[in-house]
Parts: sequence; structure tokens; C-alpha cells
Amino acid sequence: MTNTQTLEKPQAAKRGMLDNVLEQFNSAADKIDLNPNVRKILSITNTEIIIHFPVRMDNGNVEIFTGYRVQHNNALGPYKGGLRYHPTVDIDAARALAMWMTWKTSLAGLPYGGAKGGIQIDPSKYSKGELERITRRFTYALGENIGPEHDIPAPDVNTNDQTMAWIADTYMSTKSTSERSKNQHVVTGKPVGSGGLEGRDRATGYGVFLTIKFWAEKNNQSLNGKTFIVQGFGNVGYWAAHFLENEGAKMVGVQDAFGSLQNQEGIAVEDLFNYGKANSGSIVGFPEAEAMNGKEFFGLECDICIPAALGNQITKENANSIKATLIAEGANGPTDVEGEKILLDRGVTIIPDIMCNSGGVIGSYFEWLQNRNGELWQLDEILEKLEKKLRSTYKKVTAYSEEKGIDMRTAAFAIAIERIEKAYVLRGIFP
Ligand code: GLU
Repeated sequence: MTNTQTLEKPQAAKRGMLDNVLEQFNSAADKIDLNPNVRKILSITNTEIIIHFPVRMDNGNVEIFTGYRVQHNNALGPYKGGLRYHPTVDIDAARALAMWMTWKTSLAGLPYGGAKGGIQIDPSKYSKGELERITRRFTYALGENIGPEHDIPAPDVNTNDQTMAWIADTYMSTKSTSERSKNQHVVTGKPVGSGGLEGRDRATGYGVFLTIKFWAEKNNQSLNGKTFIVQGFGNVGYWAAHFLENEGAKMVGVQDAFGSLQNQEGIAVEDLFNYGKANSGSIVGFPEAEAMNGKEFFGLECDICIPAALGNQITKENANSIKATLIAEGANGPTDVEGEKILLDRGVTIIPDIMCNSGGVIGSYFEWLQNRNGELWQLDEILEKLEKKLRSTYKKVTAYSEEKGIDMRTAAFAIAIERIEKAYVLRGIFP
């Protein structure tokens, strides 16, 4: 590529998620011989919003926060993607995560583009009242940069249905009385009873489980008796573990932000969940497992490894120690490009994030439709629809990867990018 403005960083800079997503994009684009103009458009984000905003703390002092919203592409529909509250949120993280959303929604066949954002904070340091004021002030500052037909945020790391309820309420409060109720689908992942979808809480973890189930079916394997480890025991990790355990699989290792546990005899998922709830969300000290050194976590003996926390967790530093033969990416960008190369050379299968964790945004789409059409969907109907959608994506990706002799991630990216390319080629570029 020449004469192209890209987001690539200087060689010397530390590899980050943005380098990974761009490399993943470019290698799939090379495989499909992507239209060079479309490549230029997709190599960069459409809009980047950085907001510094003041919030009054419980002690009366005012603190300044930094919030981000990056809108990567909207060729297929409104921007879609979560908001995360984490110290690692910065412009490059938001860019990378927004790009992954574009590929994810396209691959799933949804009428959405990709966006991501968040606030650079450690939310555990703030009271509930402070978090509410931070969220509402950020929403107010975003103003018309979000909207039910423009850019629709959702939960991500450290945000949840409560956060979404505050955003919806704040956004709707800025509208005239008669317009208010037409705007509740400005966010998805809201609480059930406040416009939320039954089952949206488990949609991502259920989707992770389903893709593992599809893999097992395709390879004539049973999940009964299989062992797995999970990094992250939040919404994604917990629900994935819950459904795997229901199929007779055994959780032998688990790690959260506070510590790591192992037990080759199995760790009971619900017991650990209840323990965590009673211990301010931390798994540390759970009596029916042994504490272990976090650095050795990915080297635990197991069949399936589910990174369901943050990006860049599996790298060249630990990829060789991994014993699992299947990696199911519950998180966004958990395996970096170098780590992936080592794993693929060793014959490890990776179910890529943009497919593996897409149950969340598919659930979001159902919620958005439900709100838009004034409907209320039932849980069994929702889970069935989710399974149908994911199964067809899984089939497409495996068929493509077999036909072209490429790994699943490159196949998933290729399918996603081709769909966007088609939209651009049909529509042309204004003016
Ligand atoms: N944060 C989730 C993701 O990374 C969900 C996004 C959404 O539902 O918009 O896919």
C-alpha cells in the first residue's frame, strides 16, 4: 500500500492490539485480493471521539475523566459495540476493538458496523453513585455521537445492564417528551424489565459454548469428560463454564483479575460463582481448589482453553506452554499474531474471537429489534435463534477455511471483509 493513511505505529513501538487487528486484516485482505480502495477505507477508522469531562466525587472534589468512542465503519449499518471501563482503555485499544466489531457484525450477517469505547478507569475504586455520575456525564458529553440508528453501545469489560440503564435514561432524558420512548434502543444489554432482552446476560458465554459444541460435533468428539480452563470469570467466562459443565465437561483451572486456581478433579462452576458473589467478585480463597502462580496458568493440563478476559494474553511468551488442543476466544483479541503462529504450527485449533464471542452482539441485535418493533421475545425462542445464527456462521467459516486451506481466523476475516467490500463496490464512493 502506498499513499495510504493508516493507523500503523512506528516499528519500535510495543506491539499492541491495534497492530494485531491490522495484521489480521491485511493478511485476510491479501488472501481475497481486496479492492485497494476498500482496503484504504477499512485500514482507518471513520470517527474518533475523545472526551475529558468533570464529575463530582462523593467527597465533594471534582475529578476529570477521559472517555473514548471510536467508530470504525458503518457501511453495513449503524455503528455497534461495547463500552469498557478499564485502566487499559486508550485510543489505540478503542480503535482495535472497534475494528474487531466491524468484522464481527459483518461475519454474523448483522446490519451493523463497528465501534467501541469506554473510560480509562478502574471502576473498583469508585462508589456506585460515582459510577452512575461518571456514566451519565459521559453519555451527556457523547450527545448525538450515539443514537439508536447511529451508534449503539452495549456492555463490555466492567460494564453491565445497570450501566446501560443509566445510559439509556440519560440519553432519553435529553429528548422531548414525545420522542423519549422511541430511543430506548440507543443501547443494548439493558436490564430485563427496562427494555432488555431475556438471556442477553448469557448470550456471549452461551455463544462461546455453542462454538465449542459445533467444533466437537464436527470432529466427532464428546464434551462429556473434557477438561477446560477459563481466564476471566465474569459474564463471559462464567456462562461459558456453566454451559460446558452442563454437558459434562470439567473446569480444572480458572483465573480472574485477583488470582488463579486449579484442581484436576474439577472446580464446581456454580459453587465458585456463589463464592465469588459473596467475596466482592473475587475467586481468591475458594476452598475447593488450589491457588497457583498466574504466570503458569495457560500451561495447565486441559483439553480446551477459554481466554475470556482481556486482549494480548496468549503471546510468544506462553504459546508453547499451552496444553489445550482447542482455544475458544471468549475475549476480544486474546491471542496476538505471534502467539497464534506458534499455536497454529503446533496444530492447535483456534475458534477466533469474531465468531466465538459473537453471541453477545447477536443477542444485542435481537434486543434492538425487540425494542424497535415493540415486541417481547421469550428466552427459549431467543436461545434457539442464537444457535441457528451461530451454527450457520460456524459452517460458513469452517467450509471457507477447508476450501482455501486457511486457518479459521483468516477465513472469518475474509468472509466479513468480502461482505463489506461488496457493499462499497455496489454503492460507490460519494461524490
Ligand atoms: N462488548 C460485546 C462485544 O465485544 C458486545 C457488543 C454489542 O453487543 O454491541 O462483542
